[in-house]
Amino acid sequence: MIVSSAFSGKRYAILGLARSGLAAAETLLASGAEVVAWDRQDVARDKLAGRARLADPLEMDLTGFDGVVVSPGVPLNTHPIAERAARLGVPVIGDIELFALARAALPPHKVVGITGTNGKSTTTALVHHILESAGIPARMGGNIGLPVLGQEPLPVGGVYVLELSSYQIDLTRSLACEAAALSNVTPDHLDRYDDFAAYAASKARLFAMQAPDQFAVFGCADEPTDAICATQRARRAPGRAVCADRAALALRQADWPALQGPHNLENAAIAAALCAELGVANDAILAAMASFRGLPHRMEVVAEHRGVLFVNDSKATNPASAAPALAAYPPVAGGRARVHWIVGGLPKEDGLGECEAHLGNVGAAYTIGEAGPRFAQLLNGHVRVERAELMCQALRLAFAAAGPGDVVLLSPACASFDQFRDYEKRGEYFREIVAMLTGAPAGVVVDPCAGKSAA
Ligand code: ADP
Repeated sequence: MIVSSAFSGKRYAILGLARSGLAAAETLLASGAEVVAWDRQDVARDKLAGRARLADPLEMDLTGFDGVVVSPGVPLNTHPIAERAARLGVPVIGDIELFALARAALPPHKVVGITGTNGKSTTTALVHHILESAGIPARMGGNIGLPVLGQEPLPVGGVYVLELSSYQIDLTRSLACEAAALSNVTPDHLDRYDDFAAYAASKARLFAMQAPDQFAVFGCADEPTDAICATQRARRAPGRAVCADRAALALRQADWPALQGPHNLENAAIAAALCAELGVANDAILAAMASFRGLPHRMEVVAEHRGVLFVNDSKATNPASAAPALAAYPPVAGGRARVHWIVGGLPKEDGLGECEAHLGNVGAAYTIGEAGPRFAQLLNGHVRVERAELMCQALRLAFAAAGPGDVVLLSPACASFDQFRDYEKRGEYFREIVAMLTGAPAGVVVDPCAGKSAA
């Protein structure tokens, strides 16, 4: 766990005791701070019983507190804590800001911050993998699901690689990353912001917090990302704010099994720029790209059966993130579209968005969930559509239709919450059914929906 003298004798309130909130509480307590903590669930509160005062920051006097630490899940645009804290001049911060404040007490190190609508986790894991492969001590943290404060501090020369969502950036005031990246900005999370411009401005703050001599790299494939890059170029020396150089890597991509598709070329180019900035040699970067294994639920190949590839891309929860998966499997010689696309769930936006450009790769679509009927309507006339309700039905149909060279792809372009707890559960369910279907002895017909009404 990270501990810092910066917090000794300070007073913090913590709202939300899931993973990052709890790690923040532990760090603050071990650092000698006074902590008042709250979560609406008593099981969460129990973990601090006897060690911190348990009280709701909304119902207590926050005068004199050094900060209110809120979980990135708390919607600051509507939650009353924002106004209450602002009235008293108490900063509303998150665990990443605590990390930023703790940095001075840590052995000399560097921080890489990675944000963007899509590609954050892949790029974060890739940078971490390249650094470790090059013998540089590194830790991953942030939105990737590992609270950075809970990690063991790195020795001198180590690198903390942080995946940062816009919510986490909103709760951060003083994190100056030695190297930072923005992959792309496309509409997402608009329930939490006044409009798209406000969402893009949240991403831009990561770069505004950097000093002008620090390094930033941008995907530069969409207008808002370009605009942020241009603003940063204007305040930095040449070469300190750059566009990722895809062309330099394109010829090598075929050697990287876990980094296929145009989106992964973007992620790889960003990771390469960050690692070069941290002193990793080009040969070492390329070698590590080839040995990278990828992350679960992101274009994860879960089976290959009689020439059919089964790919779990459950993490694609909006059309912009499903589009690259469709793009990654163009027709083979002869021109037959080979993607059997399982699409649908809880819609985040109406329309096919960026998926539309890649429908030429789709042989058939299998629609599921709440958005299923709408997707069927949008896709009819463009591709063959089979309407299913449940994933098991969609997979049964796709399994029966797919032939050698084809790809059965779950890339739903929707959130999962209509039928699953989260995208991980949806991906695990896909894996399980694929295992059931592909594991059956030849000639035996398996009904993957037997005994299942919903997952
Ligand atoms: P994040 O952590 O930002 O959600 P991930 O790396 O977990 O991003 O990828 C999420 C989804 O977005 C995956 O389905 C993947 O296919 C897609 N994706 C990954 N990288 C990019 C990119 N650079 N541009 C667009 N989509 C991407």
